[in-house]
Amino acid sequence: MLRVGLTGGIGAGKSTVSRRWAERGAVVVDADLIAREVVAPGTPGLAQLVERFGDGILDADGALDRPALAAVAFADPAERAALNAVLHPLIGARTAELVAAAPADAVVVQDIPLLVEGRMAPLFHLVVVVHTDADERVQRLVGQRGMTAEDARARIGAQASDEQRRAAADVWLDNGGAPDSLLAEVDQLWERRLVPYEANVRLHRPVEPTDLTVVDADPEWAAQGARLVARLRVAAGLHAQRIDHVGPTAVPGLAAPDVLDVQVTVAQPDDVAALVQPLVDAGFAPLEEQPVVGGDRAWAEAHHAGADPDRPVHVAVRVAGAPAQRHTLLLVDWLRTEPAVAEELVAAQRAAAARAGTAAEHRRLVQDWIEQTAGRAREWAERTAWEPTTD
Ligand code: ADP
Repeated sequence: MLRVGLTGGIGAGKSTVSRRWAERGAVVVDADLIAREVVAPGTPGLAQLVERFGDGILDADGALDRPALAAVAFADPAERAALNAVLHPLIGARTAELVAAAPADAVVVQDIPLLVEGRMAPLFHLVVVVHTDADERVQRLVGQRGMTAEDARARIGAQASDEQRRAAADVWLDNGGAPDSLLAEVDQLWERRLVPYEANVRLHRPVEPTDLTVVDADPEWAAQGARLVARLRVAAGLHAQRIDHVGPTAVPGLAAPDVLDVQVTVAQPDDVAALVQPLVDAGFAPLEEQPVVGGDRAWAEAHHAGADPDRPVHVAVRVAGAPAQRHTLLLVDWLRTEPAVAEELVAAQRAAAARAGTAAEHRRLVQDWIEQTAGRAREWAERTAWEPTTD
């Protein structure tokens, strides 16, 4: 199963996208629909609301009078919190029920207007944001949904900004043009990314990069690394002591192969094994080839790769204080402060890309460079009294 979070501002085109994916076979779970369903007439949810806010929130037919509820519940923060305390668990439980009922090989698309506001992005394998400029959205909402322009603007103003949504987006769909061009992109995303991604997650198939060519630094790497770290935090829970975006893509401006490296630091060797299943469940399968760490169990480590066919990711799980754990953190800081050394690594990466036939071979060649330079890195660390930054 693949869980996709779909969001975007009101009128941006979420329903247009989710409808298309439903036609392609996705299981769509609509948060707005659930929010209405859990307080429909006759539900325990509606009874709880009446108990808390009085029957002034019901209309003549005994259904929820939303404006009346809004008038009492949005009057002050305590009332609002009380409303959320009733609604959130009900919505959460119903959502979990619908997701659990989906087939094991489903692509589950959760349409959640307030995904960014609710900081839910790390709970999904992939977050897709549909974007349309605010002015265009107002026009569409007024023209096609009969809203007033004031109402449309007020709702847009109360939601997350484009910038906040961009930070959460693994995929940014621009819906400023004709519906057909959006749908063509949505179809392509379905076939080329979501369907294979789902199969990789379900079959525990790690995605190894096929192209290790050194490319110019991508200004998006830092944000991609941050999203990956946030996802791994959710997956690793209390097992992880710290999680860092490491490797050359963590060095601003440095050219590198387009593979994100992350290091998960755990407190003790047993945690390396304990983390395997949670990482697999989150879509990070163990690599077939695991490193040999000098036979020293105290420094056990495990290597996993992501399952997204469009975003190669390498995850190393290491024990706090292990030489390789410390050196990995040291290396990032050394490369960040010593551009000449960073250029040496670029050259080593280019040579490795030219020689290596597989990603594993490439890793070994780069590892050789890391070992050759380890003495200089340690000297630098001593000279600068380097210590890992606290997470
Ligand atoms: P959301 O679910 O994000 O609120 P919708 O998918 O319902 O947004 O789209 C809002 C309105 O704009 C709908 O009436 C929809 O038919 C229309 N719409 C969506 N995409 C386009 C587009 N590219 N051009 C014109 N109208 C569009």
